[in-house]
Amino acid sequence: PQVIFSGIQPTGTPHLGNYLGALRQWKTLQDTSPPATKLLFSIVDLHAITVPPSSASDLVRRKREMLTALLAIGLDPARSILFYQSSVPQHAEMQWILSCTASTGYLSRMTQWKSKLAAADVLVHRATHVPVGDDQRQHLEFARECVTNFHAAYGGTECLVYPETLLGKGSRRVMSLRNPRSKMSKSDPADRSRIALTDGAEVVRRKVNGAVTDSVEGGVSFDPEGRPGVANLLELLAAFGGVKYGEEVTAERLGNEILKCMAIKELKGLVAEAINAELDVVRDRYAMIEKLGDGYLEDVAEQGRKEAAESAEATMKLVRAAVGL
Ligand code: ATP
Ligand code: MG
Repeated sequence: PQVIFSGIQPTGTPHLGNYLGALRQWKTLQDTSPPATKLLFSIVDLHAITVPPSSASDLVRRKREMLTALLAIGLDPARSILFYQSSVPQHAEMQWILSCTASTGYLSRMTQWKSKLAAADVLVHRATHVPVGDDQRQHLEFARECVTNFHAAYGGTECLVYPETLLGKGSRRVMSLRNPRSKMSKSDPADRSRIALTDGAEVVRRKVNGAVTDSVEGGVSFDPEGRPGVANLLELLAAFGGVKYGEEVTAERLGNEILKCMAIKELKGLVAEAINAELDVVRDRYAMIEKLGDGYLEDVAEQGRKEAAESAEATMKLVRAAVGL
C-alpha cells in the first residue's frame, strides 16, 4: 500500500505558493486515496530552527498557526496523520544515522545537510510518494541517494523505500508579487510579496492590485520570460479560476487567447476574485478552529504524534537491527 508523506515548515502563515504547490494537493490526495493509503503530513519544526526563530513563544505560535491552517484547508485528523516533527524523536534518530552514510562531507554543504533532514522525514515513514512543490524536487533526489548509500553501507534492503515525487497539476512555482523572478516565500520580509491563506478579501484585492507587472503597461499576454509578473497572475488565474473557462484552461491559453489584450488592471480584478472565491471557505474554517482554542489543537497534535510514532518506530526497529544499534 502507498504511504504519502509531506511536510511544511512552521516559518509563517502559509501562502498561495504553499497552497498550490503543496497543501491543495494534500487535501486532494486525502479525499481521493484508497482507504489503505497511509497519509502523513508533518509540521517540520526541527527544520524551522535551522534559521533560529526570534523566540520560543514565537515558534510555539507559528506551529499552532500552521496546524490551524492544515485543518482549515480541510485536512481531517481522522483520516490524515497531522503531527509536529519534533514530537516523534525517530525523525532525529534517522537523520543521525543517514548523516553517517553521507557520501560527501555534508557538514560543509548546508544545502545537502538540510536535504538530509528532509530525507530522514520521508524515509523514516517508508513513504512511497511525496507531494511537494517544484522547488523541492532536488531534495527528493537526495532522499533516493540516501537509500542507496544506506543499502551500500548496511545491506538491510527491507528497511528503506525509494520515494517518488508527486508533482501536482498546477505545481509551477508561484512567484513573489513584488519580484516576479523570485518565488513567493514565507521568509520574504515583505508582507506584500505574498498572499497568506488568512488574508481577508480586501487585503487580497489590495495585494493583487499592487503586484509588480511591467514598466510598459500593455495589454495581457503570456510570456514568462519577458513578462514574469503578468505570467504569474495568469498562472494564478488558471489555478484558481479554471472552472469558469473550462476544466483544462492553461495560463498560456488565458493570456494568448481568452484574455488577450485585456487591460492588466482588469486581469488583476479577475485574479483577486478567483482567489477569494476559493479562500472564503478556508478563512471561515480558520476562524472557526481558532475559536475552538488551543486545547483542540493539542488533542489533534497528540493523536497525530501517537500515530506517526507508531509508523516511524516500525521502520526504526528494522534500521537499528540492520546497523547493529
Ligand atoms: P520558507 O521561506 O520558510 O522556506 P516556504 O514558503 O518556502 O517557506 P516551505 O515550508 O519551505 O515554504 O515549503 C512547504 C511546501 O510549499 C513545499 O512543498 C514547497 O515545495 C511548497 N512551496 C513553497 N513555496 C512555493 C512556491 N512559491 N510555489 C510553489 N510551491 C511552493
Ligand atoms: Mg522553503
